[in-house]
Amino acid sequence: MLLTITTTHHPATDLGHLLVKHPDRVQSFDLPTGTAHVFYPEADEARCTAALLVEVDPLKLGGGRKGRAPEGFALGQYVNDRAYAASSLLASALTKVFRSALRGGSRDRPELAATAIPLTVRVPVLRCRGGAELAVKIFAPLGWAVTATPIPLDETFPEWGDSRYVDLTLTGTLRLADALNHLYVLLPVLDDAKHYWVAPDEVDKLLRAGADWLGEHPQRALITRRYLAHRRALADVAMARLAELRLADEPPADDSIDPEQPAETPRASLAVRRREAVLAALRDSGASRVLDLGCGGGALLSALVADRRFTEVVGVDVADRSLGLAARRLRLDRLPERQRDRIRLWQSALTYRDDRLRGYDAAVLMEVIEHLDPPRLPALEDAVFGHARPGTVVVSTPNVEYNVRYEGLGPGRFRHADHRFEWTRAEFAAWVRRVSAAHGYTATIGGVGDDDPEVGAPTQLAVLTRDDRNGEDGRAPRNDRKEGTNR
Ligand code: SAH
Repeated sequence: MLLTITTTHHPATDLGHLLVKHPDRVQSFDLPTGTAHVFYPEADEARCTAALLVEVDPLKLGGGRKGRAPEGFALGQYVNDRAYAASSLLASALTKVFRSALRGGSRDRPELAATAIPLTVRVPVLRCRGGAELAVKIFAPLGWAVTATPIPLDETFPEWGDSRYVDLTLTGTLRLADALNHLYVLLPVLDDAKHYWVAPDEVDKLLRAGADWLGEHPQRALITRRYLAHRRALADVAMARLAELRLADEPPADDSIDPEQPAETPRASLAVRRREAVLAALRDSGASRVLDLGCGGGALLSALVADRRFTEVVGVDVADRSLGLAARRLRLDRLPERQRDRIRLWQSALTYRDDRLRGYDAAVLMEVIEHLDPPRLPALEDAVFGHARPGTVVVSTPNVEYNVRYEGLGPGRFRHADHRFEWTRAEFAAWVRRVSAAHGYTATIGGVGDDDPEVGAPTQLAVLTRDDRNGEDGRAPRNDRKEGTNR
Protein backbone atom coordinates (compact mmCIF):
# COMPACT_ATOMS: atom_id res chain seq x y z
CA MET A 1 0.00 0.00 0.00
CA LEU A 2 1.19 3.41 -0.91
CA LEU A 3 0.81 7.00 0.21
CA THR A 4 2.56 10.00 -1.27
CA ILE A 5 2.83 13.54 0.06
CA THR A 6 3.88 16.32 -2.28
CA THR A 7 4.62 19.96 -1.56
CA THR A 8 5.48 22.90 -3.79
CA HIS A 9 6.44 25.08 -0.87
CA HIS A 10 9.79 26.70 -1.65
CA PRO A 11 12.29 25.10 -1.09
CA ALA A 12 10.23 21.94 -1.42
CA THR A 13 13.04 19.73 -0.14
CA ASP A 14 12.31 21.14 3.34
CA LEU A 15 9.69 18.38 3.39
CA GLY A 16 12.61 16.11 4.26
CA HIS A 17 13.30 18.20 7.38
CA LEU A 18 9.65 18.16 8.42
CA LEU A 19 9.38 14.39 8.01
CA VAL A 20 12.89 13.84 9.40
CA LYS A 21 13.68 11.61 6.44
CA HIS A 22 16.47 12.58 4.08
CA PRO A 23 15.33 12.95 0.44
CA ASP A 24 18.48 11.25 -0.85
CA ARG A 25 18.04 7.97 0.96
CA VAL A 26 15.64 5.06 1.02
CA GLN A 27 14.90 4.13 4.61
CA SER A 28 13.11 1.07 5.93
CA PHE A 29 11.38 0.45 9.23
CA ASP A 30 10.22 -2.74 10.90
CA LEU A 31 6.55 -2.78 11.78
CA PRO A 32 4.61 -5.31 13.82
CA THR A 33 2.82 -6.27 10.60
CA GLY A 34 5.54 -5.86 7.97
CA THR A 35 7.99 -3.28 6.69
CA ALA A 36 7.64 0.40 5.82
CA HIS A 37 9.86 2.14 3.27
CA VAL A 38 10.23 5.90 2.85
CA PHE A 39 11.70 7.34 -0.33
CA TYR A 40 11.38 10.39 -2.55
CA PRO A 41 10.34 9.84 -6.20
CA GLU A 42 11.07 13.53 -6.80
CA ALA A 43 12.96 16.07 -4.70
CA ASP A 44 14.00 19.47 -5.94
CA GLU A 45 13.47 23.03 -4.78
CA ALA A 46 10.23 23.47 -6.71
CA ARG A 47 8.54 20.17 -5.93
CA CYS A 48 9.18 17.34 -3.54
CA THR A 49 7.29 14.09 -3.01
CA ALA A 50 7.76 11.67 -0.14
CA ALA A 51 6.40 8.15 -0.56
CA LEU A 52 5.48 5.77 2.23
CA LEU A 53 5.26 2.20 1.02
CA VAL A 54 4.09 -0.46 3.44
CA GLU A 55 4.70 -4.11 2.76
CA VAL A 56 2.48 -6.32 4.83
CA ASP A 57 3.66 -9.71 5.95
CA PRO A 58 0.51 -11.87 5.96
CA LEU A 59 2.08 -14.20 8.49
CA LYS A 60 2.65 -11.40 10.95
CA LEU A 61 -0.82 -10.09 10.23
CA GLY A 62 -2.39 -13.46 10.92
CA GLY A 63 -0.98 -13.31 14.43
CA GLY A 64 1.60 -16.05 13.96
CA ARG A 65 5.29 -15.61 14.40
CA LYS A 66 7.27 -15.19 11.25
CA GLY A 67 7.65 -18.38 9.30
CA ARG A 68 5.17 -20.32 11.35
CA ALA A 69 1.48 -20.60 10.72
CA PRO A 70 -0.55 -19.70 13.78
CA GLU A 71 -3.02 -22.07 15.29
CA GLY A 72 -6.47 -21.94 13.79
CA PHE A 73 -5.15 -21.32 10.31
CA ALA A 74 -7.79 -19.71 8.17
CA LEU A 75 -7.22 -18.89 4.57
CA GLY A 76 -8.96 -15.54 4.92
CA GLN A 77 -6.16 -14.34 7.15
CA TYR A 78 -3.68 -14.79 4.31
CA VAL A 79 -5.66 -14.14 1.20
CA ASN A 80 -7.16 -10.68 1.56
CA ASP A 81 -6.70 -7.07 0.52
CA ARG A 82 -4.76 -5.99 3.56
CA ALA A 83 -1.43 -5.95 1.79
CA TYR A 84 -2.60 -3.76 -1.04
CA ALA A 85 -5.24 -1.33 0.16
CA ALA A 86 -4.65 1.56 2.51
CA SER A 87 -6.15 0.95 5.91
CA SER A 88 -5.41 1.12 9.59
CA LEU A 89 -2.11 -0.64 8.83
CA LEU A 90 -1.03 2.40 6.85
CA ALA A 91 -2.17 4.60 9.70
CA SER A 92 -0.05 2.65 12.21
CA ALA A 93 2.89 2.92 9.85
CA LEU A 94 2.41 6.70 9.75
CA THR A 95 2.75 7.03 13.51
CA LYS A 96 5.76 4.81 13.62
CA VAL A 97 7.62 6.42 10.73
CA PHE A 98 6.57 10.10 10.99
CA ARG A 99 6.10 10.38 14.75
CA SER A 100 7.58 13.83 15.32
CA ALA A 101 5.94 15.29 12.21
CA LEU A 102 2.56 14.03 13.45
CA ARG A 103 3.11 15.83 16.70
CA GLY A 104 3.82 19.05 14.84
CA GLY A 105 7.40 19.32 15.99
CA SER A 106 10.51 19.88 13.92
CA ARG A 107 13.99 20.38 15.27
CA ASP A 108 15.31 21.92 12.06
CA ARG A 109 12.24 23.79 10.74
CA PRO A 110 9.97 24.58 13.71
CA GLU A 111 8.38 27.57 12.01
CA LEU A 112 7.67 25.68 8.84
CA ALA A 113 6.10 22.89 10.87
CA ALA A 114 3.67 25.46 12.28
CA THR A 115 2.89 26.93 8.87
CA ALA A 116 0.24 25.86 6.38
CA ILE A 117 1.96 24.83 3.14
CA PRO A 118 0.61 23.62 -0.20
CA LEU A 119 0.19 19.84 -0.01
CA THR A 120 -1.07 17.08 -2.22
CA VAL A 121 -1.70 13.68 -0.70
CA ARG A 122 -2.40 10.68 -2.87
CA VAL A 123 -3.54 7.26 -1.81
CA PRO A 124 -3.92 5.31 -5.06
CA VAL A 125 -5.83 2.42 -3.49
CA LEU A 126 -7.97 3.12 -0.47
CA ARG A 127 -10.66 0.80 0.72
CA CYS A 128 -13.61 3.05 1.26
CA ARG A 129 -16.77 1.72 2.79
CA GLY A 130 -19.44 4.23 1.87
CA GLY A 131 -17.92 5.08 -1.47
CA ALA A 132 -16.24 8.12 -2.97
CA GLU A 133 -19.05 10.33 -1.68
CA LEU A 134 -18.14 9.50 1.88
CA ALA A 135 -14.47 10.27 1.26
CA VAL A 136 -15.51 13.77 0.17
CA LYS A 137 -17.78 14.25 3.19
CA ILE A 138 -14.98 13.19 5.48
CA PHE A 139 -12.06 15.18 4.07
CA ALA A 140 -13.69 18.28 2.56
CA PRO A 141 -14.73 19.89 5.88
CA LEU A 142 -11.06 19.86 6.88
CA GLY A 143 -10.01 22.17 4.08
CA TRP A 144 -9.08 19.58 1.44
CA ALA A 145 -10.11 19.63 -2.19
CA VAL A 146 -10.97 15.95 -2.65
CA THR A 147 -10.82 13.81 -5.75
CA ALA A 148 -11.99 10.27 -5.06
CA THR A 149 -12.29 8.11 -8.13
CA PRO A 150 -13.90 4.70 -7.74
CA ILE A 151 -11.71 1.91 -9.06
CA PRO A 152 -13.54 -0.55 -11.35
CA LEU A 153 -13.76 -4.11 -10.14
CA ASP A 154 -12.11 -5.32 -13.30
CA GLU A 155 -11.02 -3.05 -16.11
CA THR A 156 -11.70 -5.74 -18.71
CA PHE A 157 -15.28 -6.11 -17.54
CA PRO A 158 -16.57 -2.60 -16.84
CA GLU A 159 -20.11 -3.97 -16.57
CA TRP A 160 -19.10 -5.54 -13.26
CA GLY A 161 -19.14 -2.03 -11.80
CA ASP A 162 -16.92 -0.40 -9.23
CA SER A 163 -14.96 -2.05 -6.51
CA ARG A 164 -15.06 -0.83 -2.95
CA TYR A 165 -11.74 0.94 -3.51
CA VAL A 166 -11.07 4.54 -4.49
CA ASP A 167 -8.09 6.42 -5.79
CA LEU A 168 -7.87 9.39 -3.45
CA THR A 169 -6.16 12.72 -4.02
CA LEU A 170 -6.31 15.51 -1.43
CA THR A 171 -5.08 19.00 -2.21
CA GLY A 172 -4.91 21.85 0.24
CA THR A 173 -2.84 24.35 2.17
CA LEU A 174 -2.43 22.91 5.62
CA ARG A 175 0.14 22.30 8.30
CA LEU A 176 1.86 19.02 7.60
CA ALA A 177 1.01 17.79 11.11
CA ASP A 178 -2.68 18.45 10.52
CA ALA A 179 -2.54 16.58 7.23
CA LEU A 180 -0.88 13.58 8.85
CA ASN A 181 -3.31 13.56 11.76
CA HIS A 182 -6.25 13.65 9.35
CA LEU A 183 -4.83 10.63 7.52
CA TYR A 184 -3.99 8.82 10.73
CA VAL A 185 -7.59 8.97 11.90
CA LEU A 186 -9.52 8.96 8.66
CA LEU A 187 -7.87 6.22 6.58
CA PRO A 188 -8.99 3.58 9.07
CA VAL A 189 -12.38 5.29 9.35
CA LEU A 190 -12.96 4.94 5.62
CA ASP A 191 -11.65 1.40 5.60
CA ASP A 192 -13.86 0.63 8.61
CA ALA A 193 -12.18 -2.67 9.41
CA LYS A 194 -9.68 -2.34 12.18
CA HIS A 195 -7.07 -5.02 12.11
CA TYR A 196 -6.41 -4.93 15.81
CA TRP A 197 -8.35 -5.16 19.01
CA VAL A 198 -9.68 -1.75 19.96
CA ALA A 199 -8.53 -1.05 23.49
CA PRO A 200 -9.79 1.77 25.70
CA ASP A 201 -6.66 3.81 25.06
CA GLU A 202 -7.87 4.18 21.47
CA VAL A 203 -10.12 6.93 22.81
CA ASP A 204 -7.07 8.84 23.97
CA LYS A 205 -5.35 8.30 20.63
CA LEU A 206 -8.37 9.53 18.75
CA LEU A 207 -8.79 12.62 20.88
CA ARG A 208 -5.10 13.43 20.70
CA ALA A 209 -4.95 13.12 16.92
CA GLY A 210 -8.30 14.86 16.48
CA ALA A 211 -7.82 17.56 19.13
CA ASP A 212 -7.75 20.44 16.68
CA TRP A 213 -10.42 19.38 14.22
CA LEU A 214 -12.61 16.47 15.25
CA GLY A 215 -14.86 18.41 17.63
CA GLU A 216 -16.12 20.66 14.87
CA HIS A 217 -16.29 18.05 12.13
CA PRO A 218 -19.86 17.58 10.87
CA GLN A 219 -19.22 13.82 10.61
CA ARG A 220 -17.63 13.48 14.04
CA ALA A 221 -20.20 10.94 15.25
CA LEU A 222 -19.55 8.65 12.30
CA ILE A 223 -15.79 9.16 12.56
CA THR A 224 -15.78 8.41 16.26
CA ARG A 225 -17.96 5.33 15.95
CA ARG A 226 -16.00 3.83 13.10
CA TYR A 227 -12.61 4.69 14.55
CA LEU A 228 -13.60 2.92 17.73
CA ALA A 229 -14.78 -0.10 15.74
CA HIS A 230 -18.45 0.51 16.55
CA ARG A 231 -17.96 -0.07 20.25
CA ARG A 232 -20.78 2.04 21.55
CA ALA A 233 -19.43 2.51 25.08
CA LEU A 234 -16.09 3.79 23.81
CA ALA A 235 -17.74 6.05 21.26
CA ASP A 236 -19.94 7.50 24.02
CA VAL A 237 -16.90 8.33 26.12
CA ALA A 238 -15.16 9.88 23.15
CA MET A 239 -18.18 11.98 22.24
CA ALA A 240 -18.61 13.08 25.85
CA ARG A 241 -14.98 14.09 26.05
CA LEU A 242 -15.16 15.93 22.75
CA ALA A 243 -18.14 17.82 24.08
CA GLU A 244 -16.21 18.59 27.20
CA LEU A 245 -13.40 19.97 25.10
CA ARG A 246 -16.06 22.41 24.03
CA LEU A 247 -15.36 21.95 20.40
CA ALA A 248 -18.51 20.06 19.70
CA ASP A 249 -21.56 21.64 18.12
CA GLU A 250 -25.00 20.23 18.61
CA PRO A 251 -27.29 18.82 17.27
CA PRO A 252 -25.61 15.45 16.73
CA ALA A 253 -23.91 15.09 13.39
CA ASP A 254 -25.76 13.84 10.37
CA ASP A 255 -24.95 10.18 10.01
CA SER A 256 -27.48 9.39 7.35
CA ILE A 257 -24.93 8.50 4.71
CA ASP A 258 -23.39 5.69 6.68
CA PRO A 259 -24.63 2.91 4.41
CA GLU A 260 -24.82 -0.07 6.70
CA GLN A 261 -25.72 1.67 9.90
CA PRO A 262 -29.44 1.69 10.64
CA ALA A 263 -30.65 5.19 11.36
CA GLU A 264 -30.91 5.42 15.13
CA THR A 265 -32.78 8.09 16.99
CA PRO A 266 -30.03 10.26 18.38
CA ARG A 267 -29.98 10.17 22.17
CA ALA A 268 -29.29 13.65 23.50
CA SER A 269 -25.70 13.68 24.64
CA LEU A 270 -24.84 14.32 28.23
CA ALA A 271 -23.48 17.72 27.20
CA VAL A 272 -26.86 18.67 25.75
CA ARG A 273 -28.80 17.45 28.76
CA ARG A 274 -26.44 19.31 31.08
CA ARG A 275 -26.90 22.50 29.16
CA GLU A 276 -30.68 22.09 29.24
CA ALA A 277 -30.58 21.53 32.99
CA VAL A 278 -28.48 24.64 33.55
CA LEU A 279 -30.80 26.72 31.33
CA ALA A 280 -33.82 25.44 33.24
CA ALA A 281 -32.23 26.42 36.56
CA LEU A 282 -31.45 29.89 35.24
CA ARG A 283 -35.01 30.35 33.95
CA ASP A 284 -36.43 29.19 37.29
CA SER A 285 -34.29 31.73 39.08
CA GLY A 286 -35.83 34.55 37.06
CA ALA A 287 -32.41 35.86 36.12
CA SER A 288 -32.01 38.24 33.21
CA ARG A 289 -28.32 39.21 33.49
CA VAL A 290 -26.11 36.15 33.63
CA LEU A 291 -22.45 35.23 33.76
CA ASP A 292 -21.10 32.03 32.23
CA LEU A 293 -17.91 31.59 34.23
CA GLY A 294 -15.39 29.39 32.41
CA CYS A 295 -17.53 29.59 29.29
CA GLY A 296 -15.15 27.56 27.12
CA GLY A 297 -16.14 27.51 23.44
CA GLY A 298 -19.48 29.16 24.18
CA ALA A 299 -22.06 26.38 23.65
CA LEU A 300 -24.08 27.58 26.64
CA LEU A 301 -23.62 31.21 25.62
CA SER A 302 -25.32 30.53 22.26
CA ALA A 303 -28.26 28.95 24.03
CA LEU A 304 -28.49 31.90 26.42
CA VAL A 305 -28.34 34.42 23.63
CA ALA A 306 -31.12 32.56 21.80
CA ASP A 307 -33.46 33.21 24.74
CA ARG A 308 -34.60 36.81 24.93
CA ARG A 309 -35.32 36.72 28.63
CA PHE A 310 -31.57 36.92 29.13
CA THR A 311 -30.94 40.59 28.50
CA GLU A 312 -27.22 40.47 29.19
CA VAL A 313 -25.02 37.44 28.67
CA VAL A 314 -21.38 37.50 29.73
CA GLY A 315 -18.86 34.79 28.90
CA VAL A 316 -15.77 34.72 31.10
CA ASP A 317 -12.77 32.52 30.57
CA VAL A 318 -9.09 32.60 31.33
CA ALA A 319 -8.17 31.08 27.97
CA ASP A 320 -7.80 33.23 24.88
CA ARG A 321 -8.51 30.28 22.67
CA SER A 322 -11.84 29.56 24.35
CA LEU A 323 -12.93 33.18 23.99
CA GLY A 324 -11.91 33.12 20.32
CA LEU A 325 -13.95 29.96 19.75
CA ALA A 326 -16.90 31.47 21.60
CA ALA A 327 -16.76 34.64 19.50
CA ARG A 328 -16.73 32.52 16.39
CA ARG A 329 -19.57 30.30 17.50
CA LEU A 330 -21.68 33.35 18.39
CA ARG A 331 -20.73 34.96 15.06
CA LEU A 332 -20.16 38.15 16.99
CA ASP A 333 -18.82 39.98 13.97
CA ARG A 334 -21.98 39.30 12.00
CA LEU A 335 -24.63 39.96 14.64
CA PRO A 336 -26.85 43.01 14.40
CA GLU A 337 -25.80 45.64 16.89
CA ARG A 338 -28.84 45.19 19.13
CA GLN A 339 -27.97 41.52 19.61
CA ARG A 340 -24.29 42.15 20.00
CA ASP A 341 -24.94 44.64 22.77
CA ARG A 342 -26.39 41.87 24.93
CA ILE A 343 -23.17 39.86 24.79
CA ARG A 344 -19.81 40.38 26.41
CA LEU A 345 -16.75 38.16 26.41
CA TRP A 346 -14.23 38.90 29.10
CA GLN A 347 -10.89 37.34 29.82
CA SER A 348 -10.53 36.88 33.53
CA ALA A 349 -9.17 34.35 35.99
CA LEU A 350 -11.83 33.15 38.37
CA THR A 351 -9.31 32.86 41.15
CA TYR A 352 -9.03 36.68 41.38
CA ARG A 353 -11.67 39.19 42.40
CA ASP A 354 -12.98 41.04 39.36
CA ASP A 355 -15.24 44.05 39.93
CA ARG A 356 -16.80 43.65 36.49
CA LEU A 357 -18.50 40.45 37.67
CA ARG A 358 -20.47 42.12 40.49
CA GLY A 359 -24.17 42.83 40.41
CA TYR A 360 -25.34 40.00 38.16
CA ASP A 361 -28.51 38.00 38.70
CA ALA A 362 -26.93 34.63 38.13
CA ALA A 363 -23.66 32.89 37.35
CA VAL A 364 -22.92 29.47 35.91
CA LEU A 365 -19.90 27.34 36.74
CA MET A 366 -20.55 24.47 34.34
CA GLU A 367 -17.82 21.80 34.41
CA VAL A 368 -15.26 24.33 35.61
CA ILE A 369 -14.31 23.78 39.25
CA GLU A 370 -12.70 20.41 38.51
CA HIS A 371 -10.22 22.22 36.25
CA LEU A 372 -8.71 24.04 39.24
CA ASP A 373 -6.03 22.66 41.48
CA PRO A 374 -7.76 22.01 44.80
CA PRO A 375 -5.58 24.57 46.67
CA ARG A 376 -6.86 27.27 44.23
CA LEU A 377 -10.51 26.48 44.90
CA PRO A 378 -10.85 28.77 47.95
CA ALA A 379 -9.67 31.67 45.79
CA LEU A 380 -12.48 30.94 43.30
CA GLU A 381 -14.98 30.64 46.16
CA ASP A 382 -13.93 34.07 47.42
CA ALA A 383 -13.98 35.69 43.98
CA VAL A 384 -17.36 34.24 42.95
CA PHE A 385 -19.41 33.81 46.13
CA GLY A 386 -17.61 36.39 48.26
CA HIS A 387 -16.96 39.20 45.78
CA ALA A 388 -19.11 38.86 42.64
CA ARG A 389 -22.05 37.53 44.73
CA PRO A 390 -24.61 36.74 42.02
CA GLY A 391 -28.17 36.07 43.21
CA THR A 392 -27.99 32.50 41.92
CA VAL A 393 -25.01 30.27 41.16
CA VAL A 394 -25.44 27.08 39.14
CA VAL A 395 -22.53 24.66 39.55
CA SER A 396 -22.02 21.40 37.67
CA THR A 397 -19.21 18.87 38.02
CA PRO A 398 -18.69 15.18 37.19
CA ASN A 399 -19.86 12.51 39.59
CA VAL A 400 -16.76 10.33 39.91
CA GLU A 401 -18.82 7.40 41.19
CA TYR A 402 -20.42 7.15 37.76
CA ASN A 403 -17.07 6.61 36.03
CA VAL A 404 -17.30 2.84 36.53
CA ARG A 405 -20.17 2.93 34.01
CA TYR A 406 -17.86 4.27 31.29
CA GLU A 407 -16.34 1.14 29.84
CA GLY A 408 -13.59 3.14 28.16
CA LEU A 409 -12.33 4.77 31.31
CA GLY A 410 -9.63 2.87 33.16
CA PRO A 411 -9.99 2.60 36.96
CA GLY A 412 -8.88 5.78 38.70
CA ARG A 413 -8.89 7.75 35.45
CA PHE A 414 -10.73 11.03 35.10
CA ARG A 415 -13.05 11.88 32.23
CA HIS A 416 -10.79 14.56 30.90
CA ALA A 417 -7.03 14.94 30.97
CA ASP A 418 -7.29 18.45 32.41
CA HIS A 419 -9.48 17.51 35.39
CA ARG A 420 -7.60 18.04 38.64
CA PHE A 421 -10.19 16.14 40.65
CA GLU A 422 -13.58 14.51 40.29
CA TRP A 423 -15.82 14.25 43.31
CA THR A 424 -18.18 11.69 44.75
CA ARG A 425 -21.69 12.85 45.52
CA ALA A 426 -20.77 13.15 49.20
CA GLU A 427 -17.70 15.26 48.43
CA PHE A 428 -19.63 17.64 46.20
CA ALA A 429 -22.44 17.94 48.74
CA ALA A 430 -19.94 18.74 51.48
CA TRP A 431 -18.35 21.46 49.34
CA VAL A 432 -21.72 22.97 48.43
CA ARG A 433 -22.78 22.98 52.11
CA ARG A 434 -19.56 24.62 53.22
CA VAL A 435 -19.59 27.32 50.53
CA SER A 436 -23.28 28.06 51.13
CA ALA A 437 -22.77 28.45 54.86
CA ALA A 438 -19.67 30.59 54.47
CA HIS A 439 -21.21 33.02 51.99
CA GLY A 440 -24.89 33.11 52.85
CA TYR A 441 -26.46 30.93 50.17
CA THR A 442 -28.98 28.10 50.30
CA ALA A 443 -28.50 25.17 47.95
CA THR A 444 -30.31 22.35 46.24
CA ILE A 445 -28.35 19.49 44.68
CA GLY A 446 -29.38 17.10 41.92
CA GLY A 447 -28.04 15.17 38.97
CA VAL A 448 -28.11 15.28 35.18
CA GLY A 449 -28.19 12.22 32.93
CA ASP A 450 -29.49 8.71 33.51
CA ASP A 451 -29.76 8.18 37.24
CA ASP A 452 -28.07 4.90 38.08
CA PRO A 453 -29.48 3.24 41.22
CA GLU A 454 -26.00 2.45 42.49
CA VAL A 455 -23.73 5.25 41.39
CA GLY A 456 -26.11 8.12 40.66
CA ALA A 457 -26.19 10.38 37.61
CA PRO A 458 -23.09 11.18 35.54
CA THR A 459 -23.25 14.91 36.27
CA GLN A 460 -23.87 16.63 39.60
CA LEU A 461 -25.68 19.95 39.60
CA ALA A 462 -26.15 22.39 42.46
CA VAL A 463 -28.18 25.60 42.49
CA LEU A 464 -27.15 28.05 45.20
CA THR A 465 -29.45 30.99 45.95
CA ARG A 466 -28.23 33.99 47.91
CA ASP A 467 -30.11 34.11 51.20
CA ASP A 468 -31.24 37.72 50.92
CA ARG A 469 -32.97 36.73 47.68
CA ASN A 470 -34.99 33.87 49.10
CA GLY A 471 -38.61 34.76 49.58
CA GLU A 472 -38.56 37.34 46.83
CA ASP A 473 -40.82 36.86 43.86
CA GLY A 474 -38.00 35.12 42.09
CA ARG A 475 -36.68 38.18 40.36
CA ALA A 476 -33.30 39.47 41.44
CA PRO A 477 -32.91 43.16 42.16
CA ARG A 478 -31.56 44.87 39.06
CA ASN A 479 -28.00 46.05 39.03
CA ASP A 480 -27.65 45.50 42.69
CA ARG A 481 -24.13 46.74 43.07
CA LYS A 482 -23.93 47.33 46.82
CA GLU A 483 -24.33 43.67 47.65
CA GLY A 484 -20.73 42.64 47.53
CA THR A 485 -19.76 45.10 50.26
CA ASN A 486 -22.18 44.08 52.98
CA ARG A 487 -21.14 40.52 53.55
N1 SAH B 1 -18.29 25.75 30.88
C1 SAH B 1 -17.87 25.18 29.64
C2 SAH B 1 -16.38 24.82 29.59
C3 SAH B 1 -15.90 23.82 30.58
S1 SAH B 1 -14.18 23.48 30.38
C4 SAH B 1 -18.71 23.97 29.33
O1 SAH B 1 -19.29 23.36 30.22
O2 SAH B 1 -18.79 23.60 28.20
C5 SAH B 1 -13.51 24.50 31.66
C6 SAH B 1 -13.29 25.91 31.24
O3 SAH B 1 -12.88 26.63 32.37
C7 SAH B 1 -12.19 26.07 30.20
O4 SAH B 1 -12.65 26.85 29.14
C8 SAH B 1 -11.08 26.76 30.96
O5 SAH B 1 -10.33 27.65 30.15
C9 SAH B 1 -11.83 27.50 32.02
N2 SAH B 1 -11.05 27.77 33.22
C10 SAH B 1 -10.30 26.89 33.91
N3 SAH B 1 -9.72 27.50 34.95
C11 SAH B 1 -10.12 28.80 34.92
C12 SAH B 1 -9.85 29.94 35.72
N4 SAH B 1 -9.05 29.85 36.78
N5 SAH B 1 -10.41 31.10 35.38
C13 SAH B 1 -11.24 31.19 34.31
N6 SAH B 1 -11.52 30.15 33.52
C14 SAH B 1 -10.97 28.96 33.81
